[in-house]
Amino acid sequence: MDMFLDGQWDAGTSGTVMTVLNPQDGSVVDTVPVGSAADAEAALMSANAAFGQWKATPMSARVALAKTCAAAMRARAQELADLLHAELGRPMPGCLGEITNAAGMLDVCAEEGLRLTATMPLGQPAGERTIVTRDPLGVVVAITPFNYPLVLLMFKLGAALVAGCTVVAKPAEDTPLSTLKLAEIFHEAGLPKGCFNVVTGTGAEIGAALVTHPIPRKIAFTGGTAAGKAIATAAIGTLKRLTLELGGHCAAIVCADADLDKAAAAVTRHGFANTGQFCYRVNRIYVERAVYEDFLAKLKATTGLLTLAPAGGEGDLGPLINQKIFATSDRQSSDARNKGARILCGGQRATGEGFDQGYYFPPTLIADATDDMAILQEETFGPVIGIAPVDTAFDGLKRANDSIYGLAGFVFCRDLAKGLALCEGMEAGSVWLNDIQRGSPHAPFGGMKQSGIGREKGRYGVESYLEYKSIYLSYEVPE
Ligand code: NAD
Repeated sequence: MDMFLDGQWDAGTSGTVMTVLNPQDGSVVDTVPVGSAADAEAALMSANAAFGQWKATPMSARVALAKTCAAAMRARAQELADLLHAELGRPMPGCLGEITNAAGMLDVCAEEGLRLTATMPLGQPAGERTIVTRDPLGVVVAITPFNYPLVLLMFKLGAALVAGCTVVAKPAEDTPLSTLKLAEIFHEAGLPKGCFNVVTGTGAEIGAALVTHPIPRKIAFTGGTAAGKAIATAAIGTLKRLTLELGGHCAAIVCADADLDKAAAAVTRHGFANTGQFCYRVNRIYVERAVYEDFLAKLKATTGLLTLAPAGGEGDLGPLINQKIFATSDRQSSDARNKGARILCGGQRATGEGFDQGYYFPPTLIADATDDMAILQEETFGPVIGIAPVDTAFDGLKRANDSIYGLAGFVFCRDLAKGLALCEGMEAGSVWLNDIQRGSPHAPFGGMKQSGIGREKGRYGVESYLEYKSIYLSYEVPE
Protein backbone atom coordinates (compact mmCIF):
# COMPACT_ATOMS: atom_id res chain seq x y z
CA MET A 1 0.00 0.00 0.00
CA ASP A 2 1.09 3.59 -0.52
CA MET A 3 0.77 6.45 1.93
CA PHE A 4 -2.56 8.27 2.12
CA LEU A 5 -2.02 12.02 1.62
CA ASP A 6 -4.52 14.72 0.82
CA GLY A 7 -7.28 12.26 0.03
CA GLN A 8 -5.31 10.00 -2.28
CA TRP A 9 -2.71 7.25 -2.39
CA ASP A 10 0.83 8.60 -2.64
CA ALA A 11 4.06 6.62 -3.19
CA GLY A 12 6.18 9.27 -1.48
CA THR A 13 9.46 10.74 -2.58
CA SER A 14 12.12 8.32 -1.33
CA GLY A 15 11.63 5.64 -3.99
CA THR A 16 12.22 2.97 -1.33
CA VAL A 17 9.82 0.66 0.43
CA MET A 18 9.80 -1.40 3.61
CA THR A 19 8.18 -4.82 3.93
CA VAL A 20 5.36 -5.67 6.28
CA LEU A 21 5.75 -9.25 7.48
CA ASN A 22 3.15 -11.65 8.83
CA PRO A 23 4.50 -12.48 12.31
CA GLN A 24 2.87 -15.92 12.20
CA ASP A 25 5.17 -17.24 9.50
CA GLY A 26 7.45 -14.42 8.33
CA SER A 27 5.76 -14.19 4.93
CA VAL A 28 5.56 -10.81 3.18
CA VAL A 29 2.10 -9.25 3.48
CA ASP A 30 2.81 -6.03 1.60
CA THR A 31 5.22 -3.11 1.30
CA VAL A 32 4.82 0.55 2.25
CA PRO A 33 6.95 3.58 1.32
CA VAL A 34 9.82 4.61 3.55
CA GLY A 35 8.57 8.15 4.12
CA SER A 36 11.02 11.05 4.05
CA ALA A 37 11.11 14.54 5.57
CA ALA A 38 9.64 15.79 2.26
CA ASP A 39 6.67 13.42 2.71
CA ALA A 40 6.20 14.66 6.28
CA GLU A 41 6.12 18.20 4.91
CA ALA A 42 3.55 17.28 2.22
CA ALA A 43 1.28 15.58 4.77
CA LEU A 44 1.50 18.48 7.21
CA MET A 45 0.80 21.01 4.46
CA SER A 46 -2.29 19.02 3.48
CA ALA A 47 -3.52 18.88 7.09
CA ASN A 48 -2.80 22.58 7.51
CA ALA A 49 -4.72 23.48 4.37
CA ALA A 50 -7.70 21.42 5.54
CA PHE A 51 -7.69 22.86 9.07
CA GLY A 52 -9.41 26.18 8.39
CA GLN A 53 -12.49 24.63 6.84
CA TRP A 54 -12.66 21.72 9.26
CA LYS A 55 -12.45 24.08 12.24
CA ALA A 56 -15.25 26.18 10.74
CA THR A 57 -17.46 23.11 10.15
CA PRO A 58 -20.22 23.21 12.79
CA MET A 59 -19.77 20.74 15.62
CA SER A 60 -23.05 19.04 14.71
CA ALA A 61 -21.71 18.34 11.20
CA ARG A 62 -18.34 17.09 12.49
CA VAL A 63 -20.16 14.80 14.91
CA ALA A 64 -22.46 13.47 12.19
CA LEU A 65 -19.44 12.70 10.01
CA ALA A 66 -17.62 11.01 12.88
CA LYS A 67 -20.67 8.80 13.40
CA THR A 68 -20.75 7.99 9.68
CA CYS A 69 -17.05 7.04 9.83
CA ALA A 70 -17.68 4.79 12.85
CA ALA A 71 -20.52 3.09 10.97
CA ALA A 72 -18.26 2.64 7.92
CA MET A 73 -15.66 0.94 10.14
CA ARG A 74 -18.29 -1.49 11.37
CA ALA A 75 -19.56 -2.13 7.86
CA ARG A 76 -16.02 -2.89 6.67
CA ALA A 77 -14.84 -4.58 9.87
CA GLN A 78 -13.78 -7.81 8.18
CA GLU A 79 -11.63 -5.98 5.64
CA LEU A 80 -9.84 -4.11 8.45
CA ALA A 81 -9.61 -7.19 10.64
CA ASP A 82 -8.03 -9.22 7.82
CA LEU A 83 -5.25 -6.64 7.54
CA LEU A 84 -4.80 -6.47 11.33
CA HIS A 85 -4.63 -10.24 11.53
CA ALA A 86 -2.01 -10.39 8.77
CA GLU A 87 0.25 -7.62 10.07
CA LEU A 88 -0.11 -8.32 13.80
CA GLY A 89 -0.66 -12.08 13.91
CA ARG A 90 -3.35 -11.77 16.59
CA PRO A 91 -6.10 -14.39 16.32
CA MET A 92 -9.09 -13.12 14.31
CA PRO A 93 -11.67 -12.72 17.15
CA GLY A 94 -9.38 -10.21 18.84
CA CYS A 95 -8.88 -8.34 15.55
CA LEU A 96 -12.62 -8.01 15.03
CA GLY A 97 -12.94 -6.93 18.66
CA GLU A 98 -10.42 -4.16 18.10
CA ILE A 99 -12.51 -2.75 15.22
CA THR A 100 -15.61 -2.76 17.44
CA ASN A 101 -13.74 -1.02 20.25
CA ALA A 102 -12.16 1.58 17.96
CA ALA A 103 -15.51 2.39 16.31
CA GLY A 104 -17.09 2.63 19.77
CA MET A 105 -14.36 5.04 20.84
CA LEU A 106 -15.10 7.24 17.84
CA ASP A 107 -18.80 7.30 18.76
CA VAL A 108 -17.93 8.30 22.32
CA CYS A 109 -15.70 11.14 21.06
CA ALA A 110 -18.55 12.32 18.84
CA GLU A 111 -21.00 12.30 21.74
CA GLU A 112 -18.56 14.23 23.92
CA GLY A 113 -18.30 16.82 21.14
CA LEU A 114 -22.00 17.55 21.49
CA ARG A 115 -21.57 18.19 25.21
CA LEU A 116 -18.86 20.84 24.82
CA THR A 117 -19.94 24.33 25.83
CA ALA A 118 -18.48 27.81 26.14
CA THR A 119 -18.95 29.61 29.48
CA MET A 120 -19.48 33.16 30.64
CA PRO A 121 -18.46 34.13 34.18
CA LEU A 122 -21.12 36.09 36.04
CA GLY A 123 -20.56 39.20 38.12
CA GLN A 124 -19.20 41.60 35.55
CA PRO A 125 -20.35 45.20 35.34
CA ALA A 126 -22.92 46.31 32.78
CA GLY A 127 -21.32 46.78 29.37
CA GLU A 128 -18.63 44.18 29.94
CA ARG A 129 -18.84 40.47 29.36
CA THR A 130 -16.22 37.74 29.07
CA ILE A 131 -16.85 34.59 27.07
CA VAL A 132 -14.53 31.66 27.69
CA THR A 133 -14.55 29.51 24.61
CA ARG A 134 -12.31 26.75 23.28
CA ASP A 135 -10.49 26.56 19.99
CA PRO A 136 -9.13 23.42 18.30
CA LEU A 137 -5.35 23.33 18.62
CA GLY A 138 -4.60 22.93 14.91
CA VAL A 139 -2.71 20.19 13.10
CA VAL A 140 -2.00 17.13 15.25
CA VAL A 141 0.61 14.43 14.69
CA ALA A 142 -0.51 11.02 15.99
CA ILE A 143 2.28 8.45 16.40
CA THR A 144 1.22 4.94 17.37
CA PRO A 145 2.78 1.60 18.38
CA PHE A 146 2.16 -1.82 16.87
CA ASN A 147 0.13 -3.53 19.55
CA TYR A 148 -3.36 -2.01 19.11
CA PRO A 149 -2.94 -0.03 15.88
CA LEU A 150 -6.55 1.11 15.51
CA VAL A 151 -7.73 1.55 19.09
CA LEU A 152 -4.66 3.54 20.10
CA LEU A 153 -4.97 5.63 16.94
CA MET A 154 -8.66 6.31 17.63
CA PHE A 155 -7.92 7.66 21.13
CA LYS A 156 -6.13 10.45 19.24
CA LEU A 157 -7.82 10.64 15.84
CA GLY A 158 -11.41 10.50 17.13
CA ALA A 159 -10.83 13.15 19.78
CA ALA A 160 -8.82 15.42 17.46
CA LEU A 161 -11.29 15.31 14.55
CA VAL A 162 -14.30 15.97 16.77
CA ALA A 163 -12.46 18.86 18.43
CA GLY A 164 -11.86 20.38 14.98
CA CYS A 165 -8.20 19.46 14.52
CA THR A 166 -6.73 17.77 11.45
CA VAL A 167 -4.35 14.84 11.73
CA VAL A 168 -1.21 13.31 10.28
CA ALA A 169 -0.85 9.75 11.59
CA LYS A 170 2.39 7.76 11.62
CA PRO A 171 1.69 4.09 12.41
CA ALA A 172 4.34 1.67 13.66
CA GLU A 173 6.75 0.13 11.15
CA ASP A 174 5.35 -3.37 11.78
CA THR A 175 1.63 -2.54 11.47
CA PRO A 176 0.88 0.32 9.03
CA LEU A 177 -1.68 -1.43 6.81
CA SER A 178 -4.82 -1.24 8.96
CA THR A 179 -4.22 2.50 9.56
CA LEU A 180 -3.80 3.12 5.82
CA LYS A 181 -7.02 1.25 5.08
CA LEU A 182 -8.82 3.25 7.75
CA ALA A 183 -7.83 6.50 6.02
CA GLU A 184 -9.34 5.23 2.78
CA ILE A 185 -12.52 4.13 4.55
CA PHE A 186 -12.95 7.51 6.25
CA HIS A 187 -12.29 9.35 3.00
CA GLU A 188 -14.89 7.25 1.19
CA ALA A 189 -17.31 7.91 4.06
CA GLY A 190 -17.03 11.63 3.34
CA LEU A 191 -14.20 12.98 5.53
CA PRO A 192 -12.72 15.89 3.57
CA LYS A 193 -9.25 15.44 2.10
CA GLY A 194 -6.41 16.52 4.35
CA CYS A 195 -8.29 15.91 7.60
CA PHE A 196 -6.67 12.49 8.10
CA ASN A 197 -3.37 11.79 6.34
CA VAL A 198 -1.24 8.71 6.94
CA VAL A 199 2.52 8.58 6.37
CA THR A 200 4.69 5.49 6.75
CA GLY A 201 8.33 4.94 7.58
CA THR A 202 10.64 4.89 10.56
CA GLY A 203 10.37 6.79 13.81
CA ALA A 204 13.92 8.06 13.44
CA GLU A 205 13.30 9.55 10.01
CA ILE A 206 9.74 10.58 9.17
CA GLY A 207 8.60 10.39 12.81
CA ALA A 208 11.30 12.82 13.93
CA ALA A 209 10.61 15.08 10.92
CA LEU A 210 6.95 15.35 11.93
CA VAL A 211 7.79 16.13 15.55
CA THR A 212 10.27 18.91 14.80
CA HIS A 213 8.24 20.55 12.01
CA PRO A 214 6.76 23.96 12.90
CA ILE A 215 3.21 23.19 11.63
CA PRO A 216 1.89 20.69 14.20
CA ARG A 217 0.55 22.18 17.41
CA LYS A 218 0.36 18.86 19.22
CA ILE A 219 2.06 15.47 19.22
CA ALA A 220 -0.08 12.63 20.51
CA PHE A 221 2.15 9.63 21.08
CA THR A 222 1.74 6.09 22.36
CA GLY A 223 4.84 3.94 22.57
CA GLY A 224 7.89 3.22 24.66
CA THR A 225 9.20 5.58 27.34
CA ALA A 226 12.54 6.04 25.53
CA ALA A 227 10.85 7.19 22.30
CA GLY A 228 8.44 9.33 24.34
CA LYS A 229 11.35 11.17 25.96
CA ALA A 230 13.02 11.71 22.57
CA ILE A 231 9.74 13.10 21.21
CA ALA A 232 9.19 15.37 24.21
CA THR A 233 12.73 16.72 23.88
CA ALA A 234 12.28 17.38 20.15
CA ALA A 235 8.82 18.94 20.59
CA ILE A 236 9.95 21.41 23.24
CA GLY A 237 11.73 23.47 20.55
CA THR A 238 8.36 24.73 19.32
CA LEU A 239 6.50 24.20 22.63
CA LYS A 240 4.05 21.77 21.10
CA ARG A 241 1.31 20.33 23.27
CA LEU A 242 1.95 16.69 24.18
CA THR A 243 -0.01 13.65 25.13
CA LEU A 244 2.35 10.78 25.92
CA GLU A 245 1.10 7.27 26.69
CA LEU A 246 4.25 5.34 27.52
CA GLY A 247 5.50 2.15 29.09
CA GLY A 248 4.21 0.33 32.15
CA HIS A 249 5.27 -2.36 34.60
CA CYS A 250 1.95 -2.83 36.28
CA ALA A 251 1.60 -4.63 39.59
CA ALA A 252 -1.22 -6.60 41.17
CA ILE A 253 -1.58 -7.15 44.92
CA VAL A 254 -3.40 -10.26 46.13
CA CYS A 255 -4.55 -10.15 49.75
CA ALA A 256 -5.11 -13.21 51.91
CA ASP A 257 -8.89 -12.66 51.98
CA ALA A 258 -9.21 -12.25 48.19
CA ASP A 259 -11.46 -14.40 46.01
CA LEU A 260 -8.49 -16.34 44.63
CA ASP A 261 -10.45 -17.98 41.81
CA LYS A 262 -11.60 -14.61 40.52
CA ALA A 263 -8.12 -13.13 40.94
CA ALA A 264 -6.47 -15.98 39.03
CA ALA A 265 -9.00 -15.79 36.20
CA ALA A 266 -8.68 -12.00 35.93
CA VAL A 267 -4.89 -12.03 35.92
CA THR A 268 -4.81 -14.78 33.30
CA ARG A 269 -7.26 -13.01 31.03
CA HIS A 270 -5.59 -9.63 31.38
CA GLY A 271 -1.91 -10.51 31.71
CA PHE A 272 -1.83 -12.61 28.56
CA ALA A 273 -4.21 -10.61 26.34
CA ASN A 274 -2.64 -9.83 22.96
CA THR A 275 0.17 -12.22 23.95
CA GLY A 276 1.15 -9.80 26.71
CA GLN A 277 1.85 -7.02 24.21
CA PHE A 278 -0.25 -4.66 26.23
CA CYS A 279 0.92 -1.61 28.16
CA TYR A 280 -1.31 -1.89 31.25
CA ARG A 281 -1.28 -5.66 31.60
CA VAL A 282 -0.47 -7.35 34.90
CA ASN A 283 3.32 -7.79 34.71
CA ARG A 284 4.14 -8.61 38.38
CA ILE A 285 2.11 -9.85 41.34
CA TYR A 286 2.71 -9.50 45.09
CA VAL A 287 0.77 -12.10 47.08
CA GLU A 288 0.25 -12.19 50.84
CA ARG A 289 2.25 -15.16 52.08
CA ALA A 290 -0.70 -16.95 53.72
CA VAL A 291 -2.30 -17.66 50.32
CA TYR A 292 0.81 -17.62 48.12
CA GLU A 293 0.93 -21.33 47.21
CA ASP A 294 -2.87 -21.56 46.83
CA PHE A 295 -2.87 -18.61 44.47
CA LEU A 296 0.04 -20.01 42.44
CA ALA A 297 -1.81 -23.31 41.99
CA LYS A 298 -4.97 -21.56 40.79
CA LEU A 299 -3.05 -19.22 38.49
CA LYS A 300 -1.14 -22.13 36.99
CA ALA A 301 -4.44 -23.96 36.36
CA THR A 302 -6.15 -21.01 34.63
CA THR A 303 -3.03 -20.17 32.60
CA GLY A 304 -2.74 -23.81 31.57
CA LEU A 305 -6.06 -23.49 29.76
CA LEU A 306 -4.66 -20.94 27.30
CA THR A 307 -3.55 -22.18 23.89
CA LEU A 308 -1.15 -20.87 21.30
CA ALA A 309 -2.60 -20.24 17.84
CA PRO A 310 -0.22 -21.75 15.26
CA ALA A 311 0.22 -20.08 11.86
CA GLY A 312 -3.11 -20.39 10.05
CA GLY A 313 -4.74 -22.00 13.10
CA GLU A 314 -6.84 -20.97 16.06
CA GLY A 315 -6.01 -20.40 19.71
CA ASP A 316 -5.78 -17.74 22.38
CA LEU A 317 -2.29 -16.31 21.88
CA GLY A 318 -0.64 -15.39 18.60
CA PRO A 319 3.08 -14.84 18.01
CA LEU A 320 5.04 -11.86 19.29
CA ILE A 321 5.42 -9.16 16.67
CA ASN A 322 9.17 -9.31 16.07
CA GLN A 323 12.55 -10.47 17.31
CA LYS A 324 13.12 -7.40 19.50
CA ILE A 325 9.84 -7.83 21.40
CA PHE A 326 10.38 -11.61 21.65
CA ALA A 327 13.91 -11.12 23.05
CA THR A 328 12.65 -9.42 26.22
CA SER A 329 10.38 -12.31 27.24
CA ASP A 330 13.14 -14.79 26.44
CA ARG A 331 15.82 -12.86 28.34
CA GLN A 332 13.66 -12.18 31.41
CA SER A 333 12.67 -15.87 31.62
CA SER A 334 16.30 -17.10 31.37
CA ASP A 335 17.45 -14.47 33.85
CA ALA A 336 14.84 -15.61 36.40
CA ARG A 337 15.63 -19.29 35.82
CA ASN A 338 19.38 -18.67 36.27
CA LYS A 339 18.75 -16.79 39.51
CA GLY A 340 16.70 -19.62 41.01
CA ALA A 341 13.06 -18.71 40.31
CA ARG A 342 10.42 -21.41 39.82
CA ILE A 343 9.09 -21.43 36.25
CA LEU A 344 5.55 -22.71 36.74
CA CYS A 345 4.79 -22.84 33.03
CA GLY A 346 6.24 -21.68 29.71
CA GLY A 347 9.63 -20.00 29.85
CA GLN A 348 10.93 -21.05 26.45
CA ARG A 349 10.16 -20.32 22.83
CA ALA A 350 7.47 -22.59 21.37
CA THR A 351 8.67 -24.72 18.48
CA GLY A 352 7.19 -27.27 16.10
CA GLU A 353 4.95 -27.16 13.07
CA GLY A 354 3.08 -23.85 12.84
CA PHE A 355 5.40 -22.19 15.36
CA ASP A 356 8.93 -22.36 13.93
CA GLN A 357 8.55 -19.43 11.52
CA GLY A 358 7.09 -17.03 14.10
CA TYR A 359 8.23 -15.67 17.47
CA TYR A 360 5.89 -17.76 19.59
CA PHE A 361 6.35 -17.61 23.36
CA PRO A 362 3.95 -19.47 25.65
CA PRO A 363 2.24 -17.93 28.69
CA THR A 364 4.93 -17.93 31.37
CA LEU A 365 4.59 -17.74 35.16
CA ILE A 366 7.72 -17.03 37.19
CA ALA A 367 7.17 -17.77 40.89
CA ASP A 368 9.51 -16.78 43.76
CA ALA A 369 10.71 -13.80 41.71
CA THR A 370 13.11 -11.52 43.57
CA ASP A 371 14.03 -7.89 43.10
CA ASP A 372 17.35 -8.71 41.44
CA MET A 373 15.45 -10.35 38.55
CA ALA A 374 14.61 -8.37 35.41
CA ILE A 375 10.99 -9.58 35.52
CA LEU A 376 10.38 -7.49 38.66
CA GLN A 377 12.32 -4.48 37.36
CA GLU A 378 11.56 -4.00 33.64
CA GLU A 379 8.50 -3.91 31.43
CA THR A 380 8.13 -7.24 29.55
CA PHE A 381 5.61 -6.42 26.80
CA GLY A 382 5.23 -10.15 26.33
CA PRO A 383 3.48 -13.11 28.00
CA VAL A 384 5.58 -13.35 31.17
CA ILE A 385 4.42 -12.58 34.73
CA GLY A 386 6.63 -12.48 37.84
CA ILE A 387 5.13 -13.42 41.22
CA ALA A 388 6.56 -12.81 44.70
CA PRO A 389 5.29 -13.46 48.22
CA VAL A 390 4.99 -10.53 50.64
CA ASP A 391 4.40 -10.40 54.40
CA THR A 392 1.65 -7.81 54.08
CA ALA A 393 -0.26 -6.22 51.22
CA PHE A 394 1.25 -2.86 52.22
CA ASP A 395 4.74 -4.30 51.66
CA GLY A 396 3.42 -5.25 48.22
CA LEU A 397 2.16 -1.69 47.72
CA LYS A 398 5.59 -0.29 48.53
CA ARG A 399 7.20 -2.59 45.98
CA ALA A 400 4.47 -1.89 43.41
CA ASN A 401 5.19 1.84 43.70
CA ASP A 402 8.97 1.42 43.66
CA SER A 403 9.06 1.86 39.87
CA ILE A 404 9.64 4.61 37.36
CA TYR A 405 6.26 3.66 35.85
CA GLY A 406 2.74 4.44 37.04
CA LEU A 407 0.29 3.27 34.42
CA ALA A 408 -2.08 0.82 36.13
CA GLY A 409 -2.51 -1.25 39.28
CA PHE A 410 -4.70 -4.12 40.44
CA VAL A 411 -5.86 -5.06 43.93
CA PHE A 412 -7.68 -8.22 45.02
CA CYS A 413 -9.10 -7.85 48.54
CA ARG A 414 -12.53 -8.60 50.03
CA ASP A 415 -12.03 -6.14 52.91
CA LEU A 416 -13.27 -3.00 51.20
CA ALA A 417 -11.54 -0.57 53.58
CA LYS A 418 -8.18 -2.24 53.07
CA GLY A 419 -8.77 -2.65 49.33
CA LEU A 420 -9.64 1.01 48.94
CA ALA A 421 -6.58 2.08 50.94
CA LEU A 422 -4.42 -0.01 48.61
CA CYS A 423 -6.12 1.42 45.50
CA GLU A 424 -5.68 4.95 46.81
CA GLY A 425 -2.04 4.22 47.63
CA MET A 426 -1.21 2.93 44.14
CA GLU A 427 0.80 5.42 42.10
CA ALA A 428 -1.04 4.63 38.87
CA GLY A 429 -3.41 6.32 36.45
CA SER A 430 -5.97 3.49 36.61
CA VAL A 431 -6.57 0.92 39.36
CA TRP A 432 -8.89 -2.08 39.42
CA LEU A 433 -10.29 -3.70 42.57
CA ASN A 434 -11.36 -7.37 42.76
CA ASP A 435 -11.71 -8.00 39.03
CA ILE A 436 -10.37 -6.55 35.78
CA GLN A 437 -13.13 -5.40 33.47
CA ARG A 438 -12.49 -3.63 30.18
CA GLY A 439 -11.42 0.01 30.55
CA SER A 440 -14.30 2.43 30.08
CA PRO A 441 -14.19 4.63 26.95
CA HIS A 442 -15.60 7.43 29.15
CA ALA A 443 -12.93 7.29 31.88
CA PRO A 444 -9.57 9.04 31.52
CA PHE A 445 -6.64 6.78 30.66
CA GLY A 446 -2.97 7.63 31.08
CA GLY A 447 0.04 7.28 33.28
CA MET A 448 1.67 8.81 36.31
CA LYS A 449 5.46 9.24 36.61
CA GLN A 450 7.35 8.04 33.51
CA SER A 451 4.29 6.27 32.09
CA GLY A 452 3.23 9.48 30.42
CA ILE A 453 1.78 12.95 30.33
CA GLY A 454 -1.91 13.76 29.90
CA ARG A 455 -5.00 11.60 29.57
CA GLU A 456 -6.93 10.09 26.65
CA LYS A 457 -10.50 8.78 26.20
CA GLY A 458 -13.90 10.31 26.84
CA ARG A 459 -14.28 14.03 27.40
CA TYR A 460 -10.77 14.18 28.87
CA GLY A 461 -9.37 13.09 25.52
CA VAL A 462 -11.46 15.49 23.43
CA GLU A 463 -10.63 18.40 25.74
CA SER A 464 -6.90 17.79 25.25
CA TYR A 465 -7.27 18.93 21.62
CA LEU A 466 -8.82 22.25 22.62
CA GLU A 467 -7.31 25.44 23.93
CA TYR A 468 -9.11 27.97 26.14
CA LYS A 469 -9.68 31.41 24.72
CA SER A 470 -11.10 34.36 26.70
CA ILE A 471 -12.99 36.93 24.67
CA TYR A 472 -13.59 40.24 26.46
CA LEU A 473 -16.60 42.22 25.18
CA SER A 474 -17.29 45.92 25.83
CA TYR A 475 -20.46 47.57 24.63
CA GLU A 476 -22.76 50.52 25.26
CA VAL A 477 -25.68 49.51 27.44
CA PRO A 478 -28.94 50.99 26.07
CA GLU A 479 -30.50 53.59 28.43
P1 NAD B 1 8.15 2.36 20.10
O1 NAD B 1 8.32 3.44 21.09
O2 NAD B 1 9.34 1.64 19.62
O3 NAD B 1 7.42 2.92 18.77
C1 NAD B 1 6.17 3.56 18.80
C2 NAD B 1 6.02 4.50 17.62
O4 NAD B 1 6.93 5.59 17.78
C3 NAD B 1 6.36 3.89 16.26
O5 NAD B 1 5.44 4.38 15.30
C4 NAD B 1 7.76 4.41 15.98
O6 NAD B 1 8.06 4.48 14.62
C5 NAD B 1 7.67 5.80 16.60
N1 NAD B 1 8.94 6.42 17.01
C6 NAD B 1 9.98 5.83 17.63
N2 NAD B 1 10.95 6.74 17.88
C7 NAD B 1 10.51 7.94 17.42
C8 NAD B 1 11.05 9.26 17.40
N3 NAD B 1 12.25 9.54 17.90
N4 NAD B 1 10.31 10.25 16.84
C9 NAD B 1 9.09 9.99 16.33
N5 NAD B 1 8.53 8.76 16.32
C10 NAD B 1 9.22 7.73 16.87
O7 NAD B 1 7.08 1.37 20.75
P2 NAD B 1 6.58 -0.08 20.26
O8 NAD B 1 7.67 -1.07 20.39
O9 NAD B 1 5.86 0.03 18.95
O10 NAD B 1 5.47 -0.34 21.39
C11 NAD B 1 5.79 -0.83 22.64
C12 NAD B 1 5.82 0.23 23.71
O11 NAD B 1 4.63 1.03 23.66
C13 NAD B 1 5.84 -0.35 25.10
O12 NAD B 1 6.80 0.31 25.90
C14 NAD B 1 4.45 -0.08 25.64
O13 NAD B 1 4.35 0.00 27.03
C15 NAD B 1 4.09 1.19 24.97
N6 NAD B 1 2.63 1.34 24.92
C16 NAD B 1 2.05 2.22 25.78
C17 NAD B 1 0.66 2.36 25.80
C18 NAD B 1 -0.02 3.34 26.72
O14 NAD B 1 -1.18 3.63 26.50
N7 NAD B 1 0.64 3.85 27.74
C19 NAD B 1 -0.11 1.59 24.92
C20 NAD B 1 0.52 0.69 24.07
C21 NAD B 1 1.90 0.58 24.07
